[in-house]
Amino acid sequence: MLLIDCPYCGERPEIEFSYGGEAHIARPENPGALSDKEWADFLFMRGNQKGAFRERWIHTQGCRRWFNVLRDTTSHEIYAVYKIGAPKPPAPGEKPVAAKKPAAKKPAALKKGAGK
Ligand SMILES: [Zn+2]
Repeated sequence: MLLIDCPYCGERPEIEFSYGGEAHIARPENPGALSDKEWADFLFMRGNQKGAFRERWIHTQGCRRWFNVLRDTTSHEIYAVYKIGAPKPPAPGEKPVAAKKPAAKKPAALKKGAGK
């Protein structure tokens, strides 16, 4: 049995949690523009890789909150537990992901309605 360190409640046995599939699947911004195949890929196609894998879990018998777990799918070793929206922790052997730079603001002249 796994011991999962809920970021809100602390370490609890696996039976208190439910698995939620692969983490970091972004919903398409304009689903109506997708083909049926692209929509099906978004709904059903997942990585299912061997080794370090980022996945979602919910503490169903506790705080009922979602969070992410970086877990090895072969050994079940949990490398990291982190809240939804937190930066992805690097997997073993992976370079840390640099923090995103804030998006550059568009010059005022390019905004709609500017200069009128
Ligand atoms: Zn919890």
